[in-house]
Amino acid sequence: MNTICMVGTGYVGLVTGACLADFGNRVICVDVDAQRIETLKAGRVPFFEPLLEDLVQRNHAAERLSFTTDLVSSVRAADAIFIAVGTPDRGDGHADLRYLFKVVEDIAPHCAGYKVLVTKSTVPVGTGRRVHRMLRDLLPAGAAADVASNPEFLREGSAIEDFMRPNRVVIGAETDRAREVMRDIYRPLYLLETPIVITGLETAELIKYASNAFLATKISFINEVANLCEKVGADVRVVAKAMGLDQRIGSKFLHPGIGYGGSCFPKDTEALVKIGEQAGVDMRIVAAAIEVNGERAEMAVQKLGGMLGDLRGRTICLLGLAFKPNTDDVREAPALKIHKALVQAGASVRAFDPVAMERVRALDLDITLCGNAYEAMQGSDAVVLVTEWNEFRTLDLQRVKSSLKQPVVVDCRNMYARDRMQELGFRYDCYGS
Ligand code: NAD
Repeated sequence: MNTICMVGTGYVGLVTGACLADFGNRVICVDVDAQRIETLKAGRVPFFEPLLEDLVQRNHAAERLSFTTDLVSSVRAADAIFIAVGTPDRGDGHADLRYLFKVVEDIAPHCAGYKVLVTKSTVPVGTGRRVHRMLRDLLPAGAAADVASNPEFLREGSAIEDFMRPNRVVIGAETDRAREVMRDIYRPLYLLETPIVITGLETAELIKYASNAFLATKISFINEVANLCEKVGADVRVVAKAMGLDQRIGSKFLHPGIGYGGSCFPKDTEALVKIGEQAGVDMRIVAAAIEVNGERAEMAVQKLGGMLGDLRGRTICLLGLAFKPNTDDVREAPALKIHKALVQAGASVRAFDPVAMERVRALDLDITLCGNAYEAMQGSDAVVLVTEWNEFRTLDLQRVKSSLKQPVVVDCRNMYARDRMQELGFRYDCYGS
């Protein structure tokens, strides 16, 4: 049985920790957030992720999964230390690595014997090499450590399934000993014949950025096609569907609409452009994907303006605040960008989301949070469908009409059919037709 120290109990650290415990490893999860650790010790998960609470409780009860703020004793006990702290945008497009380096500085002096230090966080190319140099300088006499890069590809909302049945596992490790420890930790996936890509540090780090940037580019590509469809009278939904039937293209990530958000694609695309700049390579396609994406949320406000005229004094209802369904994560959520643009235009905003309300309440925004979708629509001049939660796909449209002051709908996820909405008497706009 391997003993793993998981530093950081956010979306990635907690899911990874709980899943690795479920694989039979002993996992000690560490966080600087004492309240978060208390919540976890009490068997509760501090954010919304389907199936996670059960998994945490089950492995906690089996004494394979524990929680602490005590980094030092956890490091001493561990064969492998996974770092899953945030690497947000530093404000200039570069990834902010200060949380990661702080962990390395805190860990290194307490290592004894042999350890593998694994970066689970998404980090720019060259970070693993830098961590390796830090360890060389900071490890006490007699201690030895290797660095491994093990980027994570899970998606919030389906994180457990993604971790337990991944398309691939990527391991950047450069010694036989480190590769052996990592293989052993992931043995259950090995047995399921999951493709495991074992490579060098830089390649592993770049695989993560290249994957996210490619998916973001696919979204921006279909969004640019959607703009063209609007001008030439084509329907992007049919274009995307027919494109996706080509197996070389595939149907995933070809959904036109408000664009990508969340805690990964926006920062990872920006960071890849910066990684390119530092290496003297102009990442033109990724830069264009970012630019196209940057216009999407504002377009929702323009569409509203097109139907309502001046937005000053209007009340607009936003349905959906999370950046996508099945999560409460509102980091870089399109809804927050629309909210900001509406407030700047002089409108008031009412909103409802099935799980992200508490996250938004904590941001202390100028927004009225309501108990359900119809309450949010009550007395509003228009509704903007922002996040494609299933419950928003099956709204009672007569009730929508009678709740709104005016039957105006902007559908940012193309969930409803224009013809049907118009037949029902709505003024309806969507993206790409
Ligand atoms: P998060 O913000 O949800 O969690 C980070 C956690 O690290 C927090 O609980 C924080 O308190 C803790 N932390 C910070 N400094 C610490 C320290 N010194 N010691 C112990 N704990 C500390 O972040 P996240 O969304 O889980 O992302 C983590 C990393 O994984 C990022 O690099 C991200 O890009 C990457 N990633 C995220 C996702 C995703 O869907 N969220 C998917 C793949 C990869």
